[in-house]
Amino acid sequence: MENCLFCKIARGDIPAKKVHEDALCFAFEDIQPQAPTHVLVCPREHVASLAEAQAGHQEMLGHLLATAAGIAQKRGLGAFRTVVNTGAEAGQSVLHLHVHLLGGRAMGWPPG
Ligand code: AMP
Ligand code: ZN
Repeated sequence: MENCLFCKIARGDIPAKKVHEDALCFAFEDIQPQAPTHVLVCPREHVASLAEAQAGHQEMLGHLLATAAGIAQKRGLGAFRTVVNTGAEAGQSVLHLHVHLLGGRAMGWPPG
């Protein structure tokens, strides 16, 4: 999508520290990391949020989680958290679906 921040990162129009790329997704370091590891895993296809995902997106959705787990494993993270904020009230600020991968520190529950 023309004016979407993460689509611009996917195209290379905006720089980002990419840590993974494949046919279905790309991943990069969050610009404001909330933990020693804070990576965002995004589909190449522009889908605004999990609420917009359709039945045809099941493979992509599974792939995002599998990719996040693979990055965690590569980094030797024994424990990590994956988060998908959906909607402004839940904290979503960028309207391109993304999985946060957070790790490298202890985390509290419930989230704020
Ligand atoms: P959310 O609030 O769940 O939509 O997450 C959006 C995330 O994108 C936040 O953690 C931001 O720090 C991150 N972010 C915003 N702009 C950039 C950017 N240019 N490069 C990398 N991460 C970004
Ligand atoms: Zn987008």
